[in-house]
Amino acid sequence: MPDKERKYKFSWKDTVGADMNAARPSLGPNTRIEVYRLFQFTLRDILEQHYGTEMADTLFREAGALAGRSFFEQYLSDAKDVSSLAAKIRDSFSEFGMGIFRVEEAAPDNGHFIFTIDEDLDCSGLPDTADVICVYDEGFIQGILESFSGRGFDVREIDCWCTGSRTCRFEAKNRV
Ligand SMILES: [Zn+2]
Repeated sequence: MPDKERKYKFSWKDTVGADMNAARPSLGPNTRIEVYRLFQFTLRDILEQHYGTEMADTLFREAGALAGRSFFEQYLSDAKDVSSLAAKIRDSFSEFGMGIFRVEEAAPDNGHFIFTIDEDLDCSGLPDTADVICVYDEGFIQGILESFSGRGFDVREIDCWCTGSRTCRFEAKNRV
């Protein structure tokens, strides 16, 4: 679909970037996790009903990657190297209450990383399931890494709160 015909082409400036002092002078910029999760998990429910589980995950991951690229441009783009990027991710994730981000393994030359997120915004505290659920985070990390490096990455969650790990662990591999 051509961009000029689209109603919802994402723009930080026109959505997330609204002036909250003007928009919400008394309520301010914060809301609660309940509202975020209500939005996320109802949207997932509907996407799954319409398109099946695999496509719902694919769409969520893709949206996460778009978010990750936008987040990078907004808050991380002056990172000079992998360690300053990691510090900026850690600080911004903490500031926005998204989770406690750590680098567990980093082999930038091989394009391989393992990251963990504790107290993850999406899944922390949810009941145990057989499967990981943080596909939006997978995309988010992918978008950040791709924006930073200019290379393609595949990111998969290998442990999740929901699989009993109580931390979310993500493996990122350079796409060859
Ligand atoms: Zn998770």
